[in-house]
Amino acid sequence: MKVLVLNSGSSSLKYQLIDSDSEEVLAKGIAERIGVKGGGGKIKHETAKNGKVEVDVDMADHDQAMDRVFKLLTDPQHGAIASVDDISAVGHRVVHGGERFVEPVVINDEILAEIDKMSVLAPLHNPANLKGIKACIRLMPGVPQVAVFDTAFHATMPDYAYIYALPYNYYTDYGVRRYGFHGTSHRYVAGQALKLLEEQGVSRETSKIITCHLGNGCSMTAIVGGRVVDTSMGMTPAEGLVMGTRSGDIDPAVLLYLAREQQATPDEIDDLINKRSGLLGISGISSDMRDIAKAAAEGNRRAELALSIFCYRVKKYIGAYAAAMGGLDAVVFTGGIGENSSEVRSRVCKGLEFLGIQLDEEKNRSARGLAEICSSASRVRIFVIPTNEERMIARETVGVLQSRKTGAGVR
Ligand code: ADP
Repeated sequence: MKVLVLNSGSSSLKYQLIDSDSEEVLAKGIAERIGVKGGGGKIKHETAKNGKVEVDVDMADHDQAMDRVFKLLTDPQHGAIASVDDISAVGHRVVHGGERFVEPVVINDEILAEIDKMSVLAPLHNPANLKGIKACIRLMPGVPQVAVFDTAFHATMPDYAYIYALPYNYYTDYGVRRYGFHGTSHRYVAGQALKLLEEQGVSRETSKIITCHLGNGCSMTAIVGGRVVDTSMGMTPAEGLVMGTRSGDIDPAVLLYLAREQQATPDEIDDLINKRSGLLGISGISSDMRDIAKAAAEGNRRAELALSIFCYRVKKYIGAYAAAMGGLDAVVFTGGIGENSSEVRSRVCKGLEFLGIQLDEEKNRSARGLAEICSSASRVRIFVIPTNEERMIARETVGVLQSRKTGAGVR
């Protein structure tokens, strides 16, 4: 069947039309500057058959954007289907599922209201995700809409990994706890890694894997027997690793210092830790790892520092998670940086030989796509596995429809 996968942001809409049997991407694209004053809207669209096309079109809201996307998908020249009726289901990426959503669900009015409630935990993301969902419900009534949550894979974390050391009622009354994100990516690459490990004789039940999703946002997950036991992001995606523009772990009292001494407002502090920190903040150059690595190689001291801090933090989490799991069978690198930067992978692994992690520098440098990059003597397998969140969302969408687990009914 043909599944449309949607990732709806506040002013953008990314889509992929996937044949769920062959997992072929029939068409994909992104609508940009939706509802942005001053126009400049654009849809970049691509099909396997007819290549790329760019359409300049102003879109007042997500309904208009979806309408234009459907026109492209059914366009005689640039389309991939004859009619919107050829789409059997839509899988929506939803960032925050809170404690309620531990697996994908078919969306109905009650589910919509619940996703809306979670907006307090993800004020930038869930309302934007809802816009895409509502546009699809309006434009394709009767077609099952499925929500796949970024937090869901992490639902198996034990309480001692997700409870903050605050008064306990902050958890029970306000839901203040660690949830974790990037779950769809971690689940996809962990599944691939488990297959590879099984082929090498490691039992699935006892397998211990660390997945490192290093992109603009970065997170790591510790996975025992295919189930998450810890992850680096917290109640929001700001915790954990150094990211393009996010600080990751920080002494919470620093924020109080800024509030008291510099009269910084909550919005200013939010902007600081989410948009002006990380690689960008340390280097003063860029949030993009390619720029940072280039500047560091050219001798820029702060770019070198940013790169060092980034890799050091990943290395610390590998040590922590190996300890948390009581062993380690594989480390997986994914995301734009994890898949492409041999330098980051090399710096992260250097010095971890005592844990049984031995990188093969030559394999690491020449890795393209899915690759095993450890030496034959390495006790721990090291993999580069390209992530594919859209494929995972399509799989989960089909899975939930086939098992009809929700009982929530199809709108
Ligand atoms: P997102 O989290 O937005 O999906 P990506 O997973 O695409 O982002 O990752 C973007 C990051 O990947 C950027 O920091 C970019 O510099 C980095 N990246 C992409 N290609 C390379 C490369 N060849 N070498 C180093 N970093 C790269």
